[in-house]
Amino acid sequence: MSALSIAGVEIRPGEQRKIELPIAKLYTDTQMSLPVYVMRGRKAGPTVFVSAALHGDELNGVEIIRRLMVSKPKLRAGTLILVPMVNVYGVLNQSRYMPDRRDLNRCFPGSASGSLAGRLAHTFIKQIVRLCDYGIDLHTGAIHRSNLPQIRADLDDSETLALAKAFAVPVLLNAQLRDGSLREAAVRKGTRVLVYEAGEALRFDELSIRIGVRGVLNVLSDLGMVRKRSLKQRGSQFVANRSEWIRASASGFVQEFAKLGKLVDEGEPLAQINSPLGELIEQCRSTRSGIVIGKQNIPLVQEGEAMYHIAYFGSDEDEVAEQIEQMQEALEESVN
Ligand SMILES: [Zn+2]
Repeated sequence: MSALSIAGVEIRPGEQRKIELPIAKLYTDTQMSLPVYVMRGRKAGPTVFVSAALHGDELNGVEIIRRLMVSKPKLRAGTLILVPMVNVYGVLNQSRYMPDRRDLNRCFPGSASGSLAGRLAHTFIKQIVRLCDYGIDLHTGAIHRSNLPQIRADLDDSETLALAKAFAVPVLLNAQLRDGSLREAAVRKGTRVLVYEAGEALRFDELSIRIGVRGVLNVLSDLGMVRKRSLKQRGSQFVANRSEWIRASASGFVQEFAKLGKLVDEGEPLAQINSPLGELIEQCRSTRSGIVIGKQNIPLVQEGEAMYHIAYFGSDEDEVAEQIEQMQEALEESVN
């Protein structure tokens, strides 16, 4: 097994190193870098990156990586590369976007001579992703939106599906590759990527964080990089091939009926949109039966705004809802 080199720093098998990966400085002449932590097992094995805050306001993943580091997982084999804040500029500004107002997750693979976002994307691919067989990219819902803990990945690929199942969340979304996303660029380079989505921007959500930490360790265990973990909490996983946002058909104040993880029937009211003077304007209804995997949290909507994200599972919906309930109960018990 040879030394691994990131930004000119060599890390040998059995070593751990913190690396500052240089990126464009601020106009205040302040130097900027991506903090990267590399752990190497003594034995040969896969190389895996775990990244967070590609959207700078999505903080659950930063905390998931911090807890992984604090738990000091004993790496038996392979290499683990932790990048807690890919869009470190966005974290500074508490913003989803880059300072050039671009969405970094639409700027991959980027180029060395491109926009600020394109350059950062290029550095991340060249220095980190290129070394990796697998990656786990941690996200949350956008600002004022919450996601049920879920994995999004190319589930038509059997190896990716196996890893997604190992992560052990009930809902797996077979998601199309999005142009310019880290996942698309990584998959094109032969790196298999899981996207974990859970919780809301600018908030720590304890359940989402715990499920995330456990999920990453489950995947590392499945890849033989850490000690085998007990499978008893895994439960079943369900693959949704379709999901849809239900949009507000009118503007007003929202009285919410459906929570995250709720099983909903076709035509079931998810929320009611009222006028500030008390009149019921409209009911927001599910167009098919499915599970609520994302929702907006502000009780105000404009017509056309996305309100509920529903995943469709075909005939398995009852079972998915039960799994979600069990998962939530098990985790709430462990939190309390
Ligand atoms: Zn995101």
